[in-house]
Amino acid sequence: MEPFVYQGTPSRVVFSWGALATLPEEVERLGARRALILATPEQRALADEVARVLGERAAGVHAEAVMHVPVSVARAALDTAAALDADCCVAVGGGSAIGLGKAIALESSLPIVAVPTTYAGSEMTPIYGLTEGRLKRTGRDPRVLPRTVIYDPSLTLSLPAEVTATSGMNAMAHAVEALYAEDANPTVSLMAEKSIRALGVALPAVVRAPDDAAMRSRALYGAWLAGTCLGAVGMALHHKLCHTLGGTFNLPHARTHAAMLPHTAHYNHAAAPAALARVARALGGREAAEAGPLLFALNRALGIPAALAALGMPEQGLDEAADLACRNPYANPRPVEREAIRALLGRAWQGAAPA
Ligand code: NAD
Repeated sequence: MEPFVYQGTPSRVVFSWGALATLPEEVERLGARRALILATPEQRALADEVARVLGERAAGVHAEAVMHVPVSVARAALDTAAALDADCCVAVGGGSAIGLGKAIALESSLPIVAVPTTYAGSEMTPIYGLTEGRLKRTGRDPRVLPRTVIYDPSLTLSLPAEVTATSGMNAMAHAVEALYAEDANPTVSLMAEKSIRALGVALPAVVRAPDDAAMRSRALYGAWLAGTCLGAVGMALHHKLCHTLGGTFNLPHARTHAAMLPHTAHYNHAAAPAALARVARALGGREAAEAGPLLFALNRALGIPAALAALGMPEQGLDEAADLACRNPYANPRPVEREAIRALLGRAWQGAAPA
């Protein structure tokens, strides 16, 4: 047995169809009486519904969250929390709403109750991000880890097919990289494998039939496991490349993760054969070399565009992206080789299969 270190996540998770109804008692359990509800403008109606469910414990709704948490948006939300004398935040939505809750918690230490409605996984991590100009700053702080997470799969029924597919593959990326993480451990690896299996079955099913309650539950279960992996162990080449492409070239977060994952998995297959064989087996294959192609086929089945070109990546930016990815690289099973990374990016740009 390899030696390992395992650190559990100290958050409470409530998972059930209709679990939103438990929100008042979960807020009360934290000893909070004035919850500020956070959402994106598109999910304002859901935020209002959450306020209705919370009743007298709702202090107000702030539906101003946007992707990547601009500092000005975080500041306005902090001001609202102070003006309303909030003693906790209920963040309802995807990574954008939860990210805004984290920005508030970072400054004020207000506890967060997260009610995720996508598969991005931010609710299970102590990782925050703040953007100023073109610079995205990320960090880890235990204060930003939501204290309670309410997973109610019924809230994902309205998730459009495109966000379902891409945020599902964003979750898949957390689980895949957890299996070859520098600090991988047996518990997290079990969760990662379960996650890949659940997402691999459920995502095509819910893209075909968005109202399939059993498969919506399974997809969110897979996303919970993946988010737990992301919060527990370090990520590698894939996350570094996606961070670079998102930060420097402004590519969309979840779609970039989805398009890149087959290539980064394939890049690592010979250096981490046991981990990538687990990925392949969880997706119905056998060998490590099949993992990348299986992920590529899954993207296609989900209708996700394969080419970075289609996401707005300029071809003349590929050299710079390769250079940036090789600068301060994350720990990775295979050394991060400039020419191989440039070739990988070229294939991803064209939408070619991993090779
Ligand atoms: P998002 O939160 O921006 O949501 C995408 C869109 O879908 C939004 O318009 C939102 O209102 C809408 N939406 C969400 N749930 C819906 C539902 N059930 N029905 C209808 N519409 C719905 O996107 P995301 O992919 O969840 O999150 C991406 C952001 O999260 C990025 O900023 C990323 O950096 C961050 N993130 C952070 C972590 C972390 O650990 N800190 C992890 C993953 C992602």
